[in-house]
Amino acid sequence: MRETTRVAIIGAGPAGLTLALLLRRNGIDCVVLERRARSYVEQRQRAGVLDHHATRIFDQAGLADEILTGAPAETLLELRYDGSPHFLDVPSLAGGRPSRSLPQQLLVRRLLAAVGDVRFEAREVALHDLTSSRPRVTYTDADGGSHEIACSYIAGCDGFHGVSRRSIPSAAVTTYEFDHGIGWLTLLADAPPPRYPLMAISSHGYAAQFARGPAASRFYLQFFADDPLAWPSSYVWDQLRLRLGDPSLPTGTITDREVVEMRSFVTEPMAYGRLHLAGDAAHIITPMGAKGMNLALSDAATLAAALIDGSPGALEAYSSSCLARTWDAQEFSRWFTEMVHDAGIADPFRRKLARARFERLFRSPPAAAAFADLMSGTDY
Ligand SMILES: Cc1cc2nc3c(=O)[nH]c(=O)nc-3n(C[C@H](O)[C@H](O)[C@H](O)COP(=O)(O)OP(=O)(O)OC[C@H]3O[C@@H](n4cnc5c(N)ncnc54)[C@H](O)[C@@H]3O)c2cc1C
Repeated sequence: MRETTRVAIIGAGPAGLTLALLLRRNGIDCVVLERRARSYVEQRQRAGVLDHHATRIFDQAGLADEILTGAPAETLLELRYDGSPHFLDVPSLAGGRPSRSLPQQLLVRRLLAAVGDVRFEAREVALHDLTSSRPRVTYTDADGGSHEIACSYIAGCDGFHGVSRRSIPSAAVTTYEFDHGIGWLTLLADAPPPRYPLMAISSHGYAAQFARGPAASRFYLQFFADDPLAWPSSYVWDQLRLRLGDPSLPTGTITDREVVEMRSFVTEPMAYGRLHLAGDAAHIITPMGAKGMNLALSDAATLAAALIDGSPGALEAYSSSCLARTWDAQEFSRWFTEMVHDAGIADPFRRKLARARFERLFRSPPAAAAFADLMSGTDY
């Protein structure tokens, strides 16, 4: 089957769906192709916080009621050092710019409901003629039918392992990769969430606990040498109590365990011919600072604005403006990573530096304000 559309969007994650929604609400025709089944996409649990910059995307598009309803504004952030609590009022420090709690799977479900037509279980997606004025996408549907979509632009929103970035000749892009040398075990558990997002710094290693709805928590535990997926639950809870400095931490059934390797990746430029990459397809970032999903949403909004504008200049500026935001977030994430992890390493000099970074946040109002500004999302 052959058809035409203005924009073919590959991937129905936060980036692809936000782009589709913004385009359709502005009268621009698009087709969204997603490799997975709808049920899988709707249940995939990952991020939990929309930073203030990302919430403004939906506010400014008049979509707050559809997308943000019931998402509570974040208030304090707790940084616990060797069991001793310290609080930062991030929204106030950022000039009254609160982030909001919204689990990624709930955001995706709301976006799907608002977007409408998405083609799930699209297999063998392939991108063609990217440097021509009429690129094409071919795919096979769940029943084995072959499809071809001719379009004006392709948006590669298919995550780090997707097909879009791999469709660009390697000579046309530069990639930057960095392994932070840190591994986390991340758990979802039916355990009561903390009152405030909680990050705990200790010589035993980093740990964190964040709300994932009213009765569930996501935990993070830095691991060193051994295989954390083999840790018995009793050891996991012991480590969490130790590092969080909370002997009475309520436990619950662990519903999911994953290992997160702390790595960063950036592709430059984020465009090739008529293909524009957005979100994890173009860059990945460590979870420190919670920027992955937020960068994906910001890319989508920037690309939507350029496509709605329609001028060659707007599309040409897309890559550089997203990359400026991406590198700013990468630097923040690396800075934050060192601050919360270096307390648990052998090198005494780096331990002292990490402590100095931490203390500066509570001693210097400008330093706290700069931190809060980055947490809330930079408005560019
Ligand atoms: C365990 C975990 C915890 C995280 N925690 C946070 C956090 O706290 N804060 C934060 O901001 N970020 C977090 N992230 C990162 C965040 O989830 C991602 O940055 C975000 O999902 C990126 O959105 P995206 O739309 O770019 O890509 P994705 O969400 O990866 O969506 C890409 C979509 O493309 C589809 N796809 C892939 N290949 C193809 C193909 N060939 N054809 C068609 N479709 C395809 C995929 O199935 C997927 O649905 C976390 C990630 C993980 C794994």
